[in-house]
Amino acid sequence: MGKNARKTSLYNAKSTNKPALSKTREESLATTSDVLGKKLRNFPEPTKTPEAGNAKVISVVNQKGGVGKTTTAINLGAALAEVGRRVLLIDFDSQASMTTGLGIKGTALREQYGSIWYLLNDSEAKLEDFILKSSVPGLDFIRGHEDLAAAEAAFVSEIAKEHKLRKLLAPVLDRYDVVLIDCSPSLGTLTVNALTASNGVIIPMECEYFAVLGLSLVKKTIQKIKENTNPQLEILGILATMFEKKTSHSREVLELIDKEFPDEVFDTIISRTVRFSESTVAGVPVTAYASSSTGSASYRRLARELIARGGAK
Ligand code: ADP
Ligand code: MG
Repeated sequence: MGKNARKTSLYNAKSTNKPALSKTREESLATTSDVLGKKLRNFPEPTKTPEAGNAKVISVVNQKGGVGKTTTAINLGAALAEVGRRVLLIDFDSQASMTTGLGIKGTALREQYGSIWYLLNDSEAKLEDFILKSSVPGLDFIRGHEDLAAAEAAFVSEIAKEHKLRKLLAPVLDRYDVVLIDCSPSLGTLTVNALTASNGVIIPMECEYFAVLGLSLVKKTIQKIKENTNPQLEILGILATMFEKKTSHSREVLELIDKEFPDEVFDTIISRTVRFSESTVAGVPVTAYASSSTGSASYRRLARELIARGGAK
């Protein structure tokens, strides 16, 4: 063993808690197939630039809060932008945590003008005039606003209220490859709007037993949307989040959802890591904040899986 090689191995031996960089990538990621002892899967690097225009619209939905919807919208969006997709994010939650997560804070966050709430209420306003650029090239967004919370009551007597977002988005679909809508933790008017405007749905689900029970409610809502406002809507996948490799509970929950919804569970799993909250505070996607972290690697893998499944171009 040469002098340098020994130095390297000593260095690795000392830092046992911090895996060497290469280990933090693909091969050490938890995946559904790995955890459940199935044949391992791989998703190819999407090299081709998709045909321009006609964006796929995807809602990130779960009526439960704190399951990773916003984290998924931001980081899947950033990962898709990294592979050359033009991505538009819509913050459709009155908590506006996606907007915060992209670095907009303080008074700018409270400004109603230019937010999605403003756009929903001013029939003259055009969405394309209020698109903001994030710090990630190719990743654009429309701000959320706390007044979105009033949507339920405000739109109650409007005709075709379910189609408001679909109409707003229609003129910009040619500019993007993917539009991701970060939904609020409810299945009310806003989420119905998002689902009516979408081609597909991603359902992030915390690896926790009670979360499984909530899934049937989301699926019922999707079925109703298909019957009433958007027959083409499809479930692109259920995404296991906050997965803990070391606990048997996480694995049991994954087994359960895989048994109930075998065709829908993403092979990619998002493990629990503090990097996500840290990157939110920093106001950038985790793919930019900690580019070589497992969190970044999982969302990059999710982007490849989604493209391989045909959910995104
Ligand atoms: P939702 O939009 O469904 O309410 P968020 O994406 O905002 O959920 O996540 C809720 C909180 O959990 C946030 O503080 C976020 O940073 C954190 N979080 C999200 N995903 C993970 C994860 N995989 N591991 C650890 N923390 C996470
Ligand atoms: Mg959220």
